[in-house]
Amino acid sequence: MKVLQLTFFVFLLLPGRASSQVDFIVKNKAGYDNQEILEVQESYSKALHALERTWKQMNLIWDVEASGKEKWDVRMSRWNENEWFLMWLGRAEEPRQIRIANKRLGKMKRVMKGKKAHLIFQSPDKTFNCKWSKHAWTIPKGKVVIHCCPQFMYLSPVHKSKAFVHEIGHESGMPFHRKVYWRRAALRTAQERPIKALKNPENYAYLVMQYYE
Ligand SMILES: [Zn+2]
Repeated sequence: MKVLQLTFFVFLLLPGRASSQVDFIVKNKAGYDNQEILEVQESYSKALHALERTWKQMNLIWDVEASGKEKWDVRMSRWNENEWFLMWLGRAEEPRQIRIANKRLGKMKRVMKGKKAHLIFQSPDKTFNCKWSKHAWTIPKGKVVIHCCPQFMYLSPVHKSKAFVHEIGHESGMPFHRKVYWRRAALRTAQERPIKALKNPENYAYLVMQYYE
């Protein structure tokens, strides 16, 4: 199959908001047309914008004038008043939880914003890894390289964005999800085992989707 290597520069200039430029390198081994590839890139860019909005919320929780115990009390009460952080990352009961989230979200934002996105569209006859990761997979090392399986193309634009945030989570120090996939499992984990949720890319993916526009 013919291998097309295309580089796209997508500039998103949105009024009243800092613009983010995503630099893509595309390997289209599946023979999709340009329009299909552009739509996937738009899902990636929208995922980045949602992640940036989530990071702003994290800053609003984190940036406190007070010090010592009072600082953490304020951070925890702000966290618990944010329905989405509460829902997807669990109730904050100790400083450690907020520290983990701040570190992970910050890393995800830096990775997604600061690195080129290599999108590999797998040829339908070479989808060995797609047996385990149905939609997309990545090897969390060095460059951001996201392999999109044939099934990925059937996802809605929002779910493509969600899948990208999930993969960026893997690229940002969260290699595992210990069987926590999809909405119900992520919600239950946040309620019952918040520390586990805080180390799970699926929980961050759902949180970020709350800030999707
Ligand atoms: Zn995964």
